[in-house]
Parts: sequence; structure tokens; C-alpha cells
Amino acid sequence: MLLQKTHDFATRFLETLETRPVASPVDFACLLERAGGPLPETGEDPVDIIEKFANAMDAGIVASAGPRYFGFVIGGSLPAALAADWLTSAWDQNGASFATSPAAAAAEEISARWLIELFGLRRSASVGFTSGCTMANFTGLAAARHALYRQLGWDVEHQGLIGAPPITVVTNEESHISIFAALQMLGLGRERVIKVSADGQGRMRADALRLVLAEIRTPFVVCAQAGNVNTGAFDPILEIANCVHARDGWLHVDGAFGVWAAASPSHRELTRGIDLADSIAVDGHKWLNVPYDSGIVFVRDRAAHYAAMSLGAPYYAPPTEMTRDNHDWVPEASRRARGFAIYAALRSLGREGIVNLIERNCTLARRMADRLGAAEGVEILNDVVLNQVLVRFTGRDTASVIARVQKDGTCWAGGTTWHGMHAMRISVSNWSTTEADIDVSAEAILRCAAM
Ligand SMILES: *Cc1c(COP(=O)(O)O)cnc(C)c1O
Repeated sequence: MLLQKTHDFATRFLETLETRPVASPVDFACLLERAGGPLPETGEDPVDIIEKFANAMDAGIVASAGPRYFGFVIGGSLPAALAADWLTSAWDQNGASFATSPAAAAAEEISARWLIELFGLRRSASVGFTSGCTMANFTGLAAARHALYRQLGWDVEHQGLIGAPPITVVTNEESHISIFAALQMLGLGRERVIKVSADGQGRMRADALRLVLAEIRTPFVVCAQAGNVNTGAFDPILEIANCVHARDGWLHVDGAFGVWAAASPSHRELTRGIDLADSIAVDGHKWLNVPYDSGIVFVRDRAAHYAAMSLGAPYYAPPTEMTRDNHDWVPEASRRARGFAIYAALRSLGREGIVNLIERNCTLARRMADRLGAAEGVEILNDVVLNQVLVRFTGRDTASVIARVQKDGTCWAGGTTWHGMHAMRISVSNWSTTEADIDVSAEAILRCAAM
């Protein structure tokens, strides 16, 4: 009865996803009041709770899972992934280890192998399933930190960084903020970084990197990115990998959404050299369209990955027997069995479906750019190489246009600052977005721009 009723609520929501306003302005205090009040002294009936809760929160639910949400880089949930996610909750497995859930271990192992094959990475890479790309970046950089300190004969997991000799961190000047958040958490410092200049699309300049590396006298890690969060542009990974490895450095690639291009024959070229990266961070909950929370980290040096994340003694050799303890490859111990939804998503799409999803979204982004760019006073600021479109409205205040679009509710797009200009950022990353969604959204945006 309870779960049946909940299922009905969920189904009704999903059925209205295409037609409900993508986001409606809502007052925070009003939501708190509707759903809040004092802590109940006594328990309430679960069916009643779910019903009241769903009604009270409805105004605060963003249709980001729907086809016309173009904010940030947010995918929806593929039906198979959502179904697997429901089971994940019902099964309530502790995804930490083989002992707590052999099924959770197996789903991650199978998904890991499929993803390695899909992206063309080395079969020997170790894979961790994190809460998102921020923690995937954290994990990859923790493995880097281990490996670089190993070169210096310093056991960073045991001795920490106090009194440790320095290592050097190099980023793109346009690296995603989560790289700096990861450095902050790792004790490497968000400011203690050399930032390499980027070109007009936000790609790290390999010639500038070479000059930077020539001056470095310590072990170093370079953080490159596959998919600039504004433009979708890719750093020249192959070229970067070659100069990093010529100097014995570690290459980390933040590819939250961009790495998915490696799966598509028509976009793979953008990621050339990705197989040479020492660590790669990717999101599942963005372009693979699985529910939150889902990130993935790949590390070439399994021993470094294990040493950085293992709860046990980092000296122990990584487990080689045919079993898997998921906690060995991520920061947490007890956690959700994240592999189930990823497994279901990969299985429901197949390689062909993934390629279609990526290519379809990229084509739709191009279509959006063409529709908007053809209008008077609208400028597309980026080369649309992937699923991201940056738009500026000339002679009008871009921020007000964005505010009107968000209020209109046909679609949702956010703002960003790009090279000193305020711009609207459009990301097409949902499996269910159609040409008609793009057309009606472009119309709405142009309507709001003309107001
Ligand atoms: C979204 C994103 C991240 C952070 O990922 P979360 O899943 O939100 O933690 C990191 N890097 C890039 C390029 C991103 O787009």
C-alpha cells in the first residue's frame, strides 16, 4: 500500500515532467512552513506522510530530469537506471565491501569493465564509484599525491603533509572549481597552484604548459580537462600527456561530461590521448543519465589508487584475488550500491544507445545554437564542439533575459561569466530531449529576449 502509493506519486510526476513548468519561482520560507513545523512528538502514518510531503514539496521540485532543463550540466534518469535505483533503495545494500554485498561488488566490477571498454582505457585500470565528479577528482588527485610522494620517499598517507617536501600542482586557468575544492581537501592548497593559460575556447595551451614544466623541480601533477564547463572544449590531452610523461609527471583529467565523447566515433578525436591519463574523473549522473549520486574515477596505477583510498595499511599489495571491496577505491566505507543504476543504464542503452545519446545531444546543441544565432542581437560565444552553448544578447542585459527565461518556465538555462562577459549557458545532456523541445525552447528564449 505505502510503496504502491509512492509509486503512483512517482509515476504521476514522471508523466507530467514534459509539461510542467521547468522551474517555478518558489519562496524558501514558504516551503519550510508547508513541510516543516515542530519535530513531531509521535509517529505519523507513512502513507499520510508521503502524500502530504509530496504535495507540500511539489512547488519546490525542479523538472531538471525533464527534456528542457538546460542548466548546469544535468542529465535526467533513464527509465532502467531509475528502476534499478528504486531496487537499490529496497535492497538497501551496504555497498562498502564484498562481505556486506556481493551483488554491489559485482555490479561495480561489471560496470567498471564495461566503462573501461567503452572509453578505450587500459584494462588494468582501477575504478572507483564516487558520489560525483568532485569526489572522483578528489580520489584521482589523492592517488596522484601518493605516487608523487612515493617518488620522494615520503609516505604521505602515514606522515601527512606537515613537514613534507613540496610537490607541484598545475591546472588549466579555467579548471573546474571542483579541482580546487579537491586540492583544498587534500592539503595541497587551492592557491598553491600554477595555472596554465588557456586559448579562446578555454583549452589549456600546450606551449604554455611546456614552459611551465621546464621550470618545475619537484614531482608534479597536471590537471587537464575534457569538456570545459562553459564551452565544452577539450584540452589537447595527447599533447599534454606526452609532455607530462616526458618529465615523469602525473596527468589527471577532469572529464565530468566530456569523457563520454570517447564513446562516440564522431567525437572521439576530441579525447585523443585519454588512455594515457594517469587518473580520470567522470560523472554518471550527468551524461549517462543515472540518478544522483554517481561519479566514476579511473586510475592507471592501481597501487597508488589503493594506497590513497584503502582503509587498511597502504603497504599491503592491492587485492589481486577475484573479488572486490568497493571501499578500496573511494573515500567512503558504508554507502549506496552505486553500481546497480550504472549497470542498468549501460545495459539499457548498449554501446549503440550511448553513442546515439551523445551524438543526439550534440546535434541538438548545434540546433539550439543555430536557432538562437540566426536571430538579431544574439551571439553564440563558443565553438559548439559538444553539448554546450554560450549565448550573449547584444544591446540587452543578458542577466535579465536569463531571469525572464527562468520565470517563463518553458525551459531553464543559467548564467555564467565568460571572458568578462555575462552569458547564458545551455547544456543539452538529457536522454529525452527532442528537436521539438529545442525549437520550443529557442522560441521561448527569443521571446524573453525581445521583451
Ligand atoms: C559537474 C562537474 C564537476 C563536478 O561534478 P559533481 O558531480 O557536481 O561533483 C567537475 N568537473 C566538471 C567539468 C563538471 O562539469
